[in-house]
Amino acid sequence: MVKETGFYDTLGVKPNATPDELKRAYRKLALKYHPDKNPTEGEKFKQISQAYEVLSDAKKREIYDRGGEKAIKEGGPSAGGGGGTFASPMDIFDLFFGGGRRMHRERKGKNIVHQISVTLEDLYNGATRKLSVQKNTICEKCEGRGSRKGAAQMCMSCHGTGMQVRVHQLVPGMVQQVSTVCHGCQGQGQRISQRDRCKGCGGRKILRQKKILEVFIEKGMRDGQKIVFHGEGDQEPGLEPGDIIFVLDLQEHPLFTRKGEDLTMSMELQLVEALCGFQKPVQTLDNRTLLVTSHPGELIKPGDTKYVCNEGMPMYRRPFETGRLIIHFSVAFPKANFLPKNKLKELESYLPLKVDSEQPESMDDDLYIYADLEECDLENRKRHRHQNYYMDEDDYASTGGVQCQTS
Ligand SMILES: [Zn+2]
Ligand SMILES: [Zn+2]
Repeated sequence: MVKETGFYDTLGVKPNATPDELKRAYRKLALKYHPDKNPTEGEKFKQISQAYEVLSDAKKREIYDRGGEKAIKEGGPSAGGGGGTFASPMDIFDLFFGGGRRMHRERKGKNIVHQISVTLEDLYNGATRKLSVQKNTICEKCEGRGSRKGAAQMCMSCHGTGMQVRVHQLVPGMVQQVSTVCHGCQGQGQRISQRDRCKGCGGRKILRQKKILEVFIEKGMRDGQKIVFHGEGDQEPGLEPGDIIFVLDLQEHPLFTRKGEDLTMSMELQLVEALCGFQKPVQTLDNRTLLVTSHPGELIKPGDTKYVCNEGMPMYRRPFETGRLIIHFSVAFPKANFLPKNKLKELESYLPLKVDSEQPESMDDDLYIYADLEECDLENRKRHRHQNYYMDEDDYASTGGVQCQTS
């Protein structure tokens, strides 16, 4: 008898299920609840994964049968050190469906690399693209022989090597060997008479074909990330086909910038909002509306940075974990003379007192030099200074460059 049946129930099998039954159950459920197909069932997908992870391992299954979920989570010496933590659901999924990388040392055909333009919304929500690619495929009619079976004959010019070696005599007693592609067979090493040539490919062995590939852009993928279709590249007789590789190319977003798992944005506040509080709507990448709200009494200064938890990017292969939304604030001040002068005194009464301890009482009014503030355009000033090298003083004054009003 097993202590509890939770994991078995999750997979919809009986506690005496065979490893094959467990596999079949996991395969069906994992495909059904995978985030690409069922984005709202993340928790369910995780549970299926954890149940399968435990029950597919004979040792862990025994611990679970005896002590239940608690025994698995506590781990302990009998759990073989691996107790307590679960692998990522996506890793389990990949391991199961063979999505991992294969290593090849054999001779391979050429890889084909395409770029896919994606938006930040695509990387946030996940997306699917159907793309048409041109590739060389081995002619099916002749299975890549280029002729009827047995009709090809070894090229006698090169004895099947495809190469011809010629010997040049440079000076008496000194020779040079030069290898060239055989003219008789164009390097194929065999000859096919005109009438034996395959009608499908005209003896070329390969055909140029169009193929539609469905590319899954997963949540949380990054700019520059590669999506590899193993063995979908150009085919060539005698070679393992290469891969088709799609490289993601992220387009700039008008509002958000991605920084790792975080999103950043700028927000401009009116002075009154910065001082007295605000609520501002932000449209998310999945079309929800966030109402960014300041805390009561909070004051935002120009250049302040704050963040909202869990409103950043979903993490790749862990789409239920998300980064932050980081907001950089700027503050727009009101226009000049927004208040009549008599009201300014009133406004001043609400603001913290001026700090002007540097004004000694005893100082005579005559001793002050009143310094007026003027508009100053540094860009303009630089340009005019530069021009001044080629101008007379009088010309300079008439250009209307940096001028001070004199009173
Ligand atoms: Zn030849
Ligand atoms: Zn053919």
